[in-house]
Amino acid sequence: RYDVVIVGAGHAGAQAAIALRQAKFTGSIAVIGDEPDLPYERPPLSKDYLAGEKPFERLLIRPAAFWTERDVVMLLGQRVTAVDAEAHTVSIGADAIGYGHLIWAGGGSPRRLTCDGHHYSGVHSVRTRADVDAMMGELAATRQVVVIGGGYIGLEAAAVLTKLGKHVTVLEAQDRVLARVAGEPLSRFYEAEHRAHGVDVRLGVMVAAIEGEGERVTGVRLIDDEIVPADMVIVGIGIVPEVAALIAAGAEGGNGVNVDRHCRTSLPDVFAVGDCAFHANDFADGAPIRLESVQNANDQATCAAKMIVAGDTDEPQPYHAVPWFWSNQYDLKLQTVGLSIGYDQTVLRGDPAQRSFSLVYLRGGHVIALDCVNATRDYVQGRSLVLAGSSPDPARLADTNEVLKELV
Ligand code: FAD
Repeated sequence: RYDVVIVGAGHAGAQAAIALRQAKFTGSIAVIGDEPDLPYERPPLSKDYLAGEKPFERLLIRPAAFWTERDVVMLLGQRVTAVDAEAHTVSIGADAIGYGHLIWAGGGSPRRLTCDGHHYSGVHSVRTRADVDAMMGELAATRQVVVIGGGYIGLEAAAVLTKLGKHVTVLEAQDRVLARVAGEPLSRFYEAEHRAHGVDVRLGVMVAAIEGEGERVTGVRLIDDEIVPADMVIVGIGIVPEVAALIAAGAEGGNGVNVDRHCRTSLPDVFAVGDCAFHANDFADGAPIRLESVQNANDQATCAAKMIVAGDTDEPQPYHAVPWFWSNQYDLKLQTVGLSIGYDQTVLRGDPAQRSFSLVYLRGGHVIALDCVNATRDYVQGRSLVLAGSSPDPARLADTNEVLKELV
């Protein structure tokens, strides 16, 4: 039995343990993770790690000694298959481990293709070190790559693989890339950038099947029967939250597991944090969402840890952190702050042709988010606009001679 059991040794799981010790929690802590490695950063998997520019050791969230020194027990390569909310235990196969509090930080698994041929070798997802190591092992023999899904991860992989000299095609079902997360000007900008780098960006196309020979992928068949040749296929079509054991134990949920403003699930003494936590976000006008970002993983984990340390004495602040995110493609550094969900107006600040600009999102006249491309100053100052819910004159927002922080 441990005072706190954390399931998932990813960003949120690691941060929960770190935050507990920072808050002087002296009880026993175990982190159970089904990957074999100590907690590591996932964002480089589609960026500098895939590019071969960063060794795995530099991805570790903390060195091995950190966990031993702080007496955090790492149970790695082990998967929790069941939770008994009444008995306060989690099961790893036939073994039961007791908990005082449980922090569920299971993240998500890559959504798989269901079409014919999805099982061919050479078809990859990008979620874990193992995924990317497998991909990298095949790169020398790869000339043509098809990326299914024009989201951030697919586009980042496309940028890296193009730089490595591969011929890359991106297949996107919607009529623009990044359709789920960004406004149209940003989508069009990234489409043009990828095309300028030689990527074949194809919009509004539907995949019918993966083609192969023997065990190995040879192409992707579209619904009009065209076959796009490929020696490698990368599938980047989102994740499915890893919450099955919690839901089976009776936790409320559907799209992940439902949590309240303090990251508590409907089960006693059970928190959920990170990619799998369906929560009402203050920066989405209180709408319940799941956020897939390092920021959200870290800040929710910290919130849960503070709740556990506070016990019944007092209730710490609810989760209220400005969302932020980044994406690197070629020499473009995108930084986003706030959430653009439900925007009814966008203002373009700067000229995309200069490869440095920001897209400002407003709802009812209030600034709710900014996507800043090679525009760190806007990103830093725009944060204050989002926090304050400012409603500046759009003409002044668009004027790059205006300093954003003065519009707060
Ligand atoms: P994860 O980090 O996925 O950790 C969950 C862990 O729990 C996993 O190791 C999983 O295997 C394990 N697990 C699940 N179920 C069980 C179980 N039953 N028993 C034991 N272990 C279990 N975010 C950004 O902010 N910026 C970026 O640029 C960015 N780039 C990204 C690039 C890639 C390629 C990927 C995959 C993600 C990226 N993200 C980025 C998203 C970010 O990495 C995630 O939001 C973050 O990892 C979420 O943390 P988490 O702890 O909730 O989940």
